[in-house]
Amino acid sequence: EGSSSTLSDPTKDKLLGGLLSPQFDASSCLSRYQSASYRKASPHPPSPYLLQRLRSYEALHRRCAPGTELYRKSVEQLKSNKRTAPMECNYIVWIPHYGLGNRIVSLVSSFFFALLNSRVLLVHVPAELADLFCEPFPEASWVLPSDFPIKNLEKFDSDSPQSYGNMLRNKVIDNGMRFSANATLPAYAYLHLPWYYKEWDKVFFCEDGQQMLRKFPWLLLKSDHYFVPALFLVEEYEAELRRLFPERTTVFHHLVRYLIHPSNTVWGHVTRYYSANLAKADERIGIQVRNLKQEPVPFEFLLGQIVNCSVHERILPSILSAQKKPRAPVSGAKVKAVFITSLDSRYSERVRDMYKEHPTATGELVRVYQASHEVEQRTEERQHNAKALAEMVLLSFSDVLVTTACSTFGYVAQGLSGVRPLVLMKPWKSSLPCRWAESAEPCFLIPPRGVCDKHSGFDKGMAKHVRQCEDENEGIKLF
Ligand code: GDP
Repeated sequence: EGSSSTLSDPTKDKLLGGLLSPQFDASSCLSRYQSASYRKASPHPPSPYLLQRLRSYEALHRRCAPGTELYRKSVEQLKSNKRTAPMECNYIVWIPHYGLGNRIVSLVSSFFFALLNSRVLLVHVPAELADLFCEPFPEASWVLPSDFPIKNLEKFDSDSPQSYGNMLRNKVIDNGMRFSANATLPAYAYLHLPWYYKEWDKVFFCEDGQQMLRKFPWLLLKSDHYFVPALFLVEEYEAELRRLFPERTTVFHHLVRYLIHPSNTVWGHVTRYYSANLAKADERIGIQVRNLKQEPVPFEFLLGQIVNCSVHERILPSILSAQKKPRAPVSGAKVKAVFITSLDSRYSERVRDMYKEHPTATGELVRVYQASHEVEQRTEERQHNAKALAEMVLLSFSDVLVTTACSTFGYVAQGLSGVRPLVLMKPWKSSLPCRWAESAEPCFLIPPRGVCDKHSGFDKGMAKHVRQCEDENEGIKLF
């Protein structure tokens, strides 16, 4: 399927510079080894040290995965709720929260945390996430088994007594315990990191918090954000991170391509849509439009932003007004395929009409596509999520990307592609209608500020590793 010129290209590096293990059965997850042929080769090779750490992570995951003796022992210990000796296998259980984009950026952040701390990442897969993603680790599963002794993981929230923040506040534990060999600790801690997290929860991002948490063989984590940038500010991790990611702005690009592979069902939707609509174009342009119900941008205003920014930045050709004489149609005119994603169908209809009713100044032909218009977000529905994932992946096949500020849906597409997007700004946050992002890195939109000791790495590291995001003044982003 797809255009044969790209798909049969033997120079395409299907293992993404060694990021992916060759040890999988390709048919169980077609997207894993086929994705490379739908995208331009990444100009950012992963570091040899990252590759080495991924391979040793995979070995650890195999030793500790559900079904192994070591997993059984760890679960026994969790059930017995007794003081825990240092264990060979330590886990982080990811709990999904909010929309699919939010889930993917927080899942990638959790894997980053697992990699840094040699913890095994297990994911809680509720029905609405079933059959969306392939297993990312060879010969072992990352799915949390249904007989896991802690139930109702979704219920953990700000007031859970087991949260790290509440345990600190209520003095059940204190970070000084990190020095004590025989402190009595609860069997697990819940890390509460969604956007509405509180001061005590934010201690997670401080040096002593990170050290203290190593005492827990089991951690449960709920977040809806890309929290990686804040971990770059923990001094203890600096040297290791420099080796893992000598090019800091590629962290998400590498890790999302390593971890997130659409299932064969979703990949079927992606490749069929691509072959039928996008494959033959000379250039592919992805435009991700996200207009939030809670803080809407008026339709005509946002449409104007999309068109004016795209034309001004020469992503889309300008049109000739009715009075001007169009060029004679040329055979072999270049075709630009514009793939628009939105819950609303009106943006693509209007852009399509514009190019139907007017010739372009360049003589190029513009074709406009939209795969779905779901009207409303319905994260609890599996089919709805499958469409969202397929569209993120289709966007990531674009040569040029236009995304909406502060949308994790767009962050996933830009990370998978490695393309630096043109960002449509929120009119109340910026005087510019759009800005080119400096990299494909997402923004950590709600970073913890002023929680860690002023003398710790957090505040010093700010200037060295992160800066203000283009799309959110309060957010931080690796640079
Ligand atoms: P964010 O809210 O923009 O950060 O992105 P999320 O992905 O976390 O949440 C938005 C959710 O709304 C998506 O996961 C989809 O369920 C739905 N949604 C929003 N925009 C689109 C779209 O363009 N296409 C599809 N299929 N779904 C969308």
